Amino acid sequence: MKTKTLKKNKVNVITLGCSKNLFDSEVTMTQLEANGFEVEHEAKQDDSEIVIINTCGFIDNAKEESINTILRYAEAKKDGQVDKLYVTGCLSERYKEGLEDEIKEVDAFFGTRELPKLLKTLNADYKHELIGERIITTPSHYAFLKISEGCDRKCAFCAIPLMRGKHISTPIEELVVQAKNLAKQGVKELILIAQELTFYGLDIYGERRLPELLKELSKVDGIEWIRLHYAYPTGFPMEIIHEMKDNPKVCNYLDIPLQHASDKMLKAMKRGATREKTTQLIKEVRALIPNIAIRTTFIVGFPGETREDIEEMKEWIAEMKFDRLGVFTYSHEEDTTAFALKDDVSEKEKKLRAQEVMGFQQNISLSLNEQKVGKTLKVLFDRIEGDYFVGRTEFDSPEVDNEVLVKAENNYLRIGDFAQVKIISADDFDLYGIPS
Ligand code: SF4
Repeated sequence: MKTKTLKKNKVNVITLGCSKNLFDSEVTMTQLEANGFEVEHEAKQDDSEIVIINTCGFIDNAKEESINTILRYAEAKKDGQVDKLYVTGCLSERYKEGLEDEIKEVDAFFGTRELPKLLKTLNADYKHELIGERIITTPSHYAFLKISEGCDRKCAFCAIPLMRGKHISTPIEELVVQAKNLAKQGVKELILIAQELTFYGLDIYGERRLPELLKELSKVDGIEWIRLHYAYPTGFPMEIIHEMKDNPKVCNYLDIPLQHASDKMLKAMKRGATREKTTQLIKEVRALIPNIAIRTTFIVGFPGETREDIEEMKEWIAEMKFDRLGVFTYSHEEDTTAFALKDDVSEKEKKLRAQEVMGFQQNISLSLNEQKVGKTLKVLFDRIEGDYFVGRTEFDSPEVDNEVLVKAENNYLRIGDFAQVKIISADDFDLYGIPS
């Protein structure tokens, strides 16, 4: 056994999965630091005495990645490279008993709402006075803001409500305090996240209050962009789009997962939506904000999906011309209502359908990008990569959407700053420009 000097009271936090998990890791790190621990996020140097893995339990690939990460650190612990190993997050919430039996090297497993218990295990206290403060792990000019937890929807394929529980909104006042603290840290872009964004407020105010939240957040000095992720089509409150139209700080950007185009599939998925109704919704949104960027995701390979359903999906994608599109392959998740159906599309076929749909979108994305050539756009620069400054317009969210590349040579731009950029060329998923 090769042991090494581990830094006492140093915690390495590892995050898997989505931006909501990243938010939770940041809250955990903030609480630990306030209790005197030295904290790092996915530390390069593995000299932490304590490792906390915040897992994802959403679909097969994500679960596999989470288990492999736990096993890697379990090995490291056996090798004396780690002293204490803790696991939290969705996979732990969902499979705690089984994991406890299987992986004995883990000192303790915690659920998605057990931060106080995790802190107690480390002889630390949950500090309520820290509400609103947060160490961020994203580049310092943008941050995720989780406005609610859990979901009350019943999508047949989805295990999230099993892991995240019922929908709970965070009060507007608390979110405004968080935004002010983030702005003080230099954050200019707030990315609003939830499991289901449009439900915001229904539980604590008895009505949808997202437009009001947007108004309050946009009053925070220093915040210049507010971006919306994870909206739901059914019962979509158009007040959100009216606020987006009237409020210059709210990006003309809407992430709204639609999952499928075929009514047969939408019904089987228990989405409560139809192609016709959703087409109408998108048209209404675009009528109000013609240059809005609409991001969506589809699932292929759901039980019972046929060639015709995929053809219908492509036909609709061609009709709607979504600005940004992602595709997931269906994952047969136990305890979801879809688990009772026969998972009759092979993994190979699922992957082929995903490639086919993404290939189809690639051409649409190229033609939409070419329409931006010659235009001057406001760009927020995230990093330098190779010979380029890399940034995003208000139509692009970090890590998932298009980017704007500006040659670094002879151009003086600052990371974390906005600049006007004239677009000179385009390809499938990126734009190239010069400062103007
Ligand atoms: S709205 Fe999203 S999180 Fe909620 S059940 Fe449907 S897919 Fe899952």
